[in-house]
Amino acid sequence: MADGMMISPARLTDPFGRSITYVRISVTDRCDLRCVYCMAEDMTFLPKRDLLTLEEIDRIAGAFVRLGTRKLRITGGEPLVRRGVMSLFERLGARVGYGLDELTLTTNGTQLARYAEALRAAGVRRVNVSLDTLDADRFADITRWGKLSQTLDGIAAAKAAGLAVKINAVALKGVNEDEIDDLVAWCGAEGHDLCLIETMPMGEVAHRVDQYLPLSIVRARLRRRWTLTETPYRTGGPARYYDVAETGRRIGFITPMTHNFCESCNRVRLTCTGTLYMCLGQDDQADLRAVVRASDDDTALAGAIRAAIARKPKGHDFVIDRQHDRPAVARHMSVTGG
Ligand code: SAM
Repeated sequence: MADGMMISPARLTDPFGRSITYVRISVTDRCDLRCVYCMAEDMTFLPKRDLLTLEEIDRIAGAFVRLGTRKLRITGGEPLVRRGVMSLFERLGARVGYGLDELTLTTNGTQLARYAEALRAAGVRRVNVSLDTLDADRFADITRWGKLSQTLDGIAAAKAAGLAVKINAVALKGVNEDEIDDLVAWCGAEGHDLCLIETMPMGEVAHRVDQYLPLSIVRARLRRRWTLTETPYRTGGPARYYDVAETGRRIGFITPMTHNFCESCNRVRLTCTGTLYMCLGQDDQADLRAVVRASDDDTALAGAIRAAIARKPKGHDFVIDRQHDRPAVARHMSVTGG
């Protein structure tokens, strides 16, 4: 890939000295599930004409890689429900080893049985699969429309295809907090790492305050049964990892609420309409769709990306308590891409 090899010396550095090397790209705002903490049941989705084409996404990704991006994560909505998405994985996968270190995705797993082999062939080596519970009724309640067996089949297919699977679970008070030990044990038995996430105040959804569960509490409870040893292991994201002696696997904690990790933020997020958000929890943005549609000149695109990074905010202001039961940002997680 010729253009991937020409990495500009002018790497992306924000006003706080943070190198921006990780781009998360949401390829659709649509999803085949309706997780209660993520989306409202009656979401209005974007008209197709507003979406970046897969070619436009690849062009923007290429511009980022030339500016020093080492890791791309494809997300959504549910990325695997976007028509033709495998052709995007093929294009982006061809950049691995040519500036890009890693191409990965976050998925709910419903389509993995169909796509796991092709993802591996395209150059994907690791996938994050969201799974908040191992109980079929609970899974149906949390996802509103989902079937646990479909996601478990997808996870099994990913493993069989040789993809490393990390399970992402949002810890929710009164919903799955009694199951975290089971998730640790199941991940250990299946050979998956587990990552727990604190719910974040994004978009209007019901019960956020009631369901917010600080991971500091979860970790203290886990220590009663498991031997956790902190490790320096990182995957390029915000999780802090511990080895679980009894399972031989790792457990990660993503704690935007109880421990703000913005000081080491290396990421920006591109939505499926080409809006670049420089912070998950702020409204600052740049319209890259207008730039790619205005001209074929990638110099202008690189300039727009640099100008956006020069405005990256210091961090988010997430708070969840009874005085702050409004979302920090109006958009749902499915818009920005979790
Ligand atoms: N559909 C894919 C999936 O399920 O993984 C990718 C998109 S989804 C928005 C990405 C992740 O964000 C999921 O793990 C989901 O549980 C998480 N998520 C969604 N809304 C969230 C919120 N308000 N706070 C914390 N995590 C959230």
